[in-house]
Amino acid sequence: MLAYNEAMKREIMIGSVGIGGSHPVSVQTMTKVPLNRIQSTLNQIGRIADAGAELVRIGIPDRNTLKAFTRIVRESPLPVIADIHFDGDLALYAMEAGAAALRINPGNIGGNEKLKEILRVAGRQCVPIRIGANSGSLEKKYAQDDSLNRSERLVRSVLDRIRFCEDQGFTLLKISLKSSSVLETIEAYRMIDRACDYPLHVGITESGPGLPGIVKSVLGIGVLLEQGIGNTIRVSLTASPEEEVRVAREILAGLDLRRRGIELVACPTCSRTSIDLIGQVRRFQKMLGDRHFDRSLKVAIMGCEVNGPGEAADADIGVAFSKGKAYLFQRGEKMERVAKEDAMDILVQKINTWMEENE
Ligand code: SF4
Repeated sequence: MLAYNEAMKREIMIGSVGIGGSHPVSVQTMTKVPLNRIQSTLNQIGRIADAGAELVRIGIPDRNTLKAFTRIVRESPLPVIADIHFDGDLALYAMEAGAAALRINPGNIGGNEKLKEILRVAGRQCVPIRIGANSGSLEKKYAQDDSLNRSERLVRSVLDRIRFCEDQGFTLLKISLKSSSVLETIEAYRMIDRACDYPLHVGITESGPGLPGIVKSVLGIGVLLEQGIGNTIRVSLTASPEEEVRVAREILAGLDLRRRGIELVACPTCSRTSIDLIGQVRRFQKMLGDRHFDRSLKVAIMGCEVNGPGEAADADIGVAFSKGKAYLFQRGEKMERVAKEDAMDILVQKINTWMEENE
C-alpha cells in the first residue's frame, strides 16, 4: 500500500480544485503561447484540460498583457494560477482580474513591503500563493553557507519565506522546491515534508526534452509520490503542455493514485510473436487519437494466445494474436475468435461501446 497522505497537509482551494487535505493529487501545467494571443492560449487550455490537467498556470510577463490575462481568466475552463516575477504590482492586478492563485518568488517581487501588500490582499481575497525556492533563488545567507548541502540550502531558504508569510498572518501557502537534479529534489522534498504541513507542489524543473526529460520527471515525482509526498504535480518538459499532462497522468496511473482513460498493457514481443505487434499497437493508438475518456479501462494487446490472456489476466478487455487468428478476451477469458486484420477495429468498437454504456 502506498503511504500517500499518511501525514495530512493543510487544505487550500484553487478555484474548485482542492489541494492537500484528503484531496487527490492534482495535475497542472503552464500555457506556452504568448499571452497576447488570447484565442491560441484559450485553445491550448482547452487541449490541456482534455488531456487531464485540472489547473493551469500562466506567466504574466508585463503590464501590456494584463488585458489579455483578464479575458483568459474569464473564459478559461480551468482555474488559472498567475505566475509573476519582479513586478509585485502584477500580482495585485492578477488578483483583481480573478486569478485563482498566485505563484511568486518572495525574493524577487519588489521587496518586503510589496510582498506584505500582496499577502494582505491575497489574505483578504482568500487567494492561495505558491512560494518556493530553486537553486537559482536561494537566500544569500544560505547560498554561501558551505556547511549546508544544496538541498538543505533550498529547504532553509523556503522555511525563512514561510516564516515571513506566517508573521504577516498569511497561511494559504503551497510550497515548492526546485532543482534540475533528481536526487537533490527528492532529498529537499523529504526534508520540507517533515518540516511543515503546507501542501506541496512537486516537479523536477527544466527536465529537458524527450525521453531524458520524461525519465527524470517520472523518477523524481514518482519516488516522492510513492512515499506520500506531493499534493499537486507539474511535469516540466521541453515539449507541449499536453505532453506534460499526459506524462503526469501516466505517473499517477502507474502508482495507482488516479486513473482515467485507457491504460494500455502490451507485451514486449518475443520469438512466439507472429505479427507486427509494435505496428498493431501504433495503429490502435492512432485510432484512439487524443480522445478523452473520463472512465478508466485496462486494455491489453498481446503477441500470442499461449501466454497473452494469462499475462494480461487483469485487463478489462484485450486481444491476443495467434498464427492464424486473433482472440478477444475479457479478464483472462477468451471470448471471440476474429480475423487478425479485423482485430484492432473490433477492439476499438468494443471500447467505444463500453465507454458509451458506462458514461
Ligand atoms: Fe511472447 Fe506471448 Fe509473452 Fe508476447 S505474450 S511476450 S508473444 S509469450
